[in-house]
Amino acid sequence: MAPGGSVYQDIIESRTAFADYDIVPKNVEFRSSPFRKSATVCGKLGMASSSAVHELLECPVCLNLMYPPIHQCPNGHTICLNCKAKVHNSCPICRLELGNIRCLALEKVAESLELPCRYQILGCQDIFPFHSRLRHEQNCRFRPYNCPYAGAECSVTGDIRFLVAHLKDDHKVDMHDGCTFNHRYVKSNPQEVENATWMLTVFNCFGHQFCLHFESFHLGTSPVYMAFLRFMGDDQDAKKFSYSLEVGGNGRKLTWQGVPRSIRDSHKTVRDSLDGLIIQGNMALFFSGGDRQELKLKVAGRIWKEQL
Ligand SMILES: [Zn+2]
Ligand SMILES: [Zn+2]
Ligand SMILES: [Zn+2]
Ligand SMILES: [Zn+2]
Repeated sequence: MAPGGSVYQDIIESRTAFADYDIVPKNVEFRSSPFRKSATVCGKLGMASSSAVHELLECPVCLNLMYPPIHQCPNGHTICLNCKAKVHNSCPICRLELGNIRCLALEKVAESLELPCRYQILGCQDIFPFHSRLRHEQNCRFRPYNCPYAGAECSVTGDIRFLVAHLKDDHKVDMHDGCTFNHRYVKSNPQEVENATWMLTVFNCFGHQFCLHFESFHLGTSPVYMAFLRFMGDDQDAKKFSYSLEVGGNGRKLTWQGVPRSIRDSHKTVRDSLDGLIIQGNMALFFSGGDRQELKLKVAGRIWKEQL
């Protein structure tokens, strides 16, 4: 059998004891993967060995690819950093104490591999060496979005279509078609502002979805109401739109014009940057008219496409 062949065999067999294996070149010029070389010796086998390497780098717990630092137990069972933190220092395979033993050889293998972006199944075609792959994945435009719902922590992620359905079905969010709106927000006990994140409405317009957030919180010591728009998509597309909001009563009016923020920016980031229409608590009560016992705000708005 060709040398490449025996390498392949041994990788499979020494899967969990890889650190001892002498496949790591002495003068670690490892960037051009040795598994590629075996591919040129024997094409088919080379492909198999590359998938064997992937298998080798698969964390036995979460099944994700492992990146440095990769740890191993005294028996050589490897585990990724995330999972190591969760297994209470006991090897999930043999139960031996894990300690802090690194698997440097496997780390070098991991660094030498060129891998497809982890969002390949979501449409990304890019392939990267280890380090730039991580960097890319943090900004990959195919990476799933977080659920834009703000009321409670929601860990659901997905593409826009999925999230629109999720907002509608699971959060019972109101969906509207159209680029202009007129919304009434009524709250019976306006003094209780604490954590009253209480409104999200989604608008379908220009073939995209926009989230209108309306909420109250304390800015310093004073209660405020804030309305802002988020775009369900990436930042570069969000910038193609503008929106305006208007609220008033008793002959006064506040207006805001802004650019919707991508839902890549967390709800909290947008809120904390005050990038929206801010209504001071007292002003909100003044707009509401009446006896200050009820908040009644009419927010009118419009979304339009900027001519680029
Ligand atoms: Zn893991
Ligand atoms: Zn073990
Ligand atoms: Zn990608
Ligand atoms: Zn959600």
